[in-house]
Amino acid sequence: MAGTNLLTPSDIRTLSDRLGIRPTKTLGQNFVGDGGTVRKIVSHAGVCVGDHVLEIGPGLGSLTLALLEAGAYVSAIEIDPVLASALPETVAARHDRPERFAVAQFDALKLADHELAVPPALDRMVPTFLVANLPYNVAVPALLTAFEVLPSLTVVDVMVQLEVAERLAAPPGSRVYGVPSVKAAWYAEATRGPLISRSVFWPVPNVDSALVRFDRRREPSADRVAVFAVIDAAFSQRRKTLRQALASWAGSAARAEERLRAAGIDPQRRGETLTIDDFVAIANAEA
Ligand code: SAM
Repeated sequence: MAGTNLLTPSDIRTLSDRLGIRPTKTLGQNFVGDGGTVRKIVSHAGVCVGDHVLEIGPGLGSLTLALLEAGAYVSAIEIDPVLASALPETVAARHDRPERFAVAQFDALKLADHELAVPPALDRMVPTFLVANLPYNVAVPALLTAFEVLPSLTVVDVMVQLEVAERLAAPPGSRVYGVPSVKAAWYAEATRGPLISRSVFWPVPNVDSALVRFDRRREPSADRVAVFAVIDAAFSQRRKTLRQALASWAGSAARAEERLRAAGIDPQRRGETLTIDDFVAIANAEA
């Protein structure tokens, strides 16, 4: 679509210099300077003209511009005040419909305590997509927070470091299946997407990345907090049987066994073999 000027590697350097940005590891600041990559993320998410997208961590605006190019409305959350205040100008200079964009400056982990910014061209706030190159150090909590706070999100497509992508999309029984895999499965079905080379970033990180797409599912009928407590207990002692691992959660190993049997789960199994629905059954079981 005409009217958008994506950021090149030299644009990334020039913009950073002008803003006095020295990318920090603490904030996971690795900026993408490759139009092919940001377009790939947008098309992997399936964003179309008129969709309303939440972006966490827009940085200098690389992915933001590709979302706008696809005809989306974008509400962004950026923690870094310098980056957040520079974005409207970057968008206005590079896209012909800047009224489709708005940014709010806050920590995405505190989403529950803040209002998202509504693009001037929209009259209400109902983002159905989350598309982001997530800051690596808070990728999983940021993702789970967005699912929890924004029930309107139906598709979530994020770039995370490869190891986290594999973990998020892992099936039960796999070596990397863990707390993030099961908690994400409460909200959505995850599918691992394409690998993204570290070479598209500035500065270049020491790991590769990958996309993960989540399609929201109907949440199980159970108390989420209670189910997540069972998940945390089961994985806190990964090598132990569920009978042992859930002992302090249930009050004793014998009580854990009763709960497990009531849920139809063999107490000798390990947490890493259970689906989210198995964890729901344990939380809902009467001992
Ligand atoms: N989207 C940009 C891109 O693809 O070039 C930048 C991605 S960079 C990996 C992550 C961005 O998230 C940075 O701009 C960083 O300042 C921001 N960030 C880090 N922690 C954050 C948080 N807790 N809430 C919101 N933004 C955060």
